[in-house]
Amino acid sequence: MTAAIVLAAGQGKRMGTRTAKQFLLLDGKPVLYYALNAFEQSEVDMVVLVTGKDEIEYCRKEIVDAYGFKKICAVVPGGKERYHSVACGLQALKEKDADIDVVLIHDGARPFVTADMIHKLIGETLVHAACVIGTPVKDTIKIADEDGFCAQTPSRSKVWAVQTPQSFDFELVHGAYGALLDKEKEILDRGIQITDDAMVVEYMTERKVKLVEGDYTNIKLTTPEDLVISEAFLKKIKK
Ligand code: C5P
Repeated sequence: MTAAIVLAAGQGKRMGTRTAKQFLLLDGKPVLYYALNAFEQSEVDMVVLVTGKDEIEYCRKEIVDAYGFKKICAVVPGGKERYHSVACGLQALKEKDADIDVVLIHDGARPFVTADMIHKLIGETLVHAACVIGTPVKDTIKIADEDGFCAQTPSRSKVWAVQTPQSFDFELVHGAYGALLDKEKEILDRGIQITDDAMVVEYMTERKVKLVEGDYTNIKLTTPEDLVISEAFLKKIKK
């Protein structure tokens, strides 16, 4: 079986709106609707939606029921950091006892994921056990030093901007997250910021994570101009 975790428990402070970015309206529908719809249309069997504990009712009524999503098997509260929310989603899936082979973890604030991307990732995960979708960067990337000067310029051909979904063998990623939570204090004390799921597998297991080429349209809504870009993408898709 294949499962997905869609994350919508963040506050999205960088967007500067009172409503969290995943609930802002994009062409009359909440941003979160678009990702959930892609998973509903895909070959994924079940979806866990992770949201803030105060948004669970809203999500159940105004998103799951209102749009008739049939694959959402649980709406559960998330945690303080993104990785806490992922751990909550993984635990909810574990409790389903459903013989899950592959799990895809996706940011609810990325509306342009498609059933094709999901299909490609599932196939690659059956081969590599750990995969992340992304794109080679277009800009030159600089690593800064503490004083804000350029310290290094990695070769652009080797630098990727990674997105979600990130897709894993279920037991591998469940175990990696368990190990992360056990060692959380030590990791934070070392100044490591956990910002994606691939990092958790890279740090906590021996498994290498495969980069799978996706699409530049699969943006995450983070700052206000991303809304303008999203409206433009949506218009193009609807043509
Ligand atoms: O903050 P960032 O843009 O990295 O968030 C990526 C995704 O993770 C968003 O969909 C957000 O709702 C989710 N998230 C979460 N729980 C948190 C923080 C972020 O589910 N504590």
